[in-house]
Amino acid sequence: MIRAVKGTRDILPPSSSVWNFVEATAREVFRAYNYQEIRTPIFEETQLFARGVGEDTDIVTKEMYTFDDRDGSSLTLRPENTASVIRAYIEHSLHQQPGLQKLYYMGPMFRRERPQKGRFRQFYQIGAEAIGSDAAFIDAEVVEMVHELLTRCGLSGFEVLLNSVGCAECRPRFLESLKAALAGVAARMCQDCQRRAGTNPLRVLDCKIPEDQPVIEALPSILDHLCGTCSAHFATVRQYLDDRGIAYQVKPRLVRGLDYYMRTTFEFVHGALGAQNSVLGGGRYDGLAEQLGSRVHSPGIGFSIGEDRLVMSLEQQAPEAHRHVLDLYIAPMGAEALRHAAGLAHELRRKGAAAELGGDAKLKRAMELANKLGARYTLMVGENEINTGLYALKNMTTGEQEQISRTDLAGRFPQN
Ligand SMILES: [Zn+2]
Ligand SMILES: [Zn+2]
Repeated sequence: MIRAVKGTRDILPPSSSVWNFVEATAREVFRAYNYQEIRTPIFEETQLFARGVGEDTDIVTKEMYTFDDRDGSSLTLRPENTASVIRAYIEHSLHQQPGLQKLYYMGPMFRRERPQKGRFRQFYQIGAEAIGSDAAFIDAEVVEMVHELLTRCGLSGFEVLLNSVGCAECRPRFLESLKAALAGVAARMCQDCQRRAGTNPLRVLDCKIPEDQPVIEALPSILDHLCGTCSAHFATVRQYLDDRGIAYQVKPRLVRGLDYYMRTTFEFVHGALGAQNSVLGGGRYDGLAEQLGSRVHSPGIGFSIGEDRLVMSLEQQAPEAHRHVLDLYIAPMGAEALRHAAGLAHELRRKGAAAELGGDAKLKRAMELANKLGARYTLMVGENEINTGLYALKNMTTGEQEQISRTDLAGRFPQN
């Protein structure tokens, strides 16, 4: 037997209903905030991710699915989508379009991570990018939109973590004091931290090793080093969130793994998955477009939601909430009735009802199946019904049965 590749999985009913619900809700929220969809290719030149995601990140050094194409060029399955969106933005000169470019995407990403609960090598992200403004109100609007999206999905009990990671002017000063502090304590930290203290000290703050946490807590805070512009920007973001009544926690250690983030950075966490509780992360990346070859300064901010984890949280929280609904099970009695019922089913389906047409079976078996399928009603079609033009309709919840004409039936379904 051939099985799905390790780290990948099939999304089956009824779970696929929850995925559809999340995606439909996301599209609705994106529309409300004037975001439009962008679909970029699943694979890109490897160079794009090396430059866009950062050479020193775990994603690029350990986790990418990279392969040589037949002509020798190096291609990579996208490990995330921001670099691709910015690539498309530059390639199609989208900065010439009026207003901001507000783009959303949803689809599979690929990283060769160690498989564990809630992590897959083919995983799904829903994300968005607002490109063309460095205004603080846009940052707050993005956080507000994500908050709205999770709320409309029915997720509760999540927390918003917020930070500013400074800019090209003030972050180097912070890095200097961070390096100076690390010089004294790095030897007491884990191997990764010792290495990062030299190569990328910001990422020391990301370390999850429990023994390192007291040391990390005592390191200098970025918030004490922000320049005037970054400080004012961060204050405005917080003001707008306060105005909206959106609660958040300021977390100075929230630096995010990717090199191109600056100023606002945020994360939404949820308790349903224990320690692996980040549902989404995002932030501002004002220098990324230039890093990918843009001659136009194109500041942007974006986020991506781990859809796998969001669906898992929703399923834990309300397992029955997104069940697929079958309005009607049609049970024909006999070959002639089946033929008649097929026409009836077509009519009701065309009107938008979800109808299952059963084969010719004994009534008792048909009722059992209708029950197992969770049909809300069962419609019985026999010789008698065809002759009189009145069908027997049974409410599967209450057990009540009524006689109904074809016209009334068409007016009854679909129900809300
Ligand atoms: Zn700054
Ligand atoms: Zn460490």
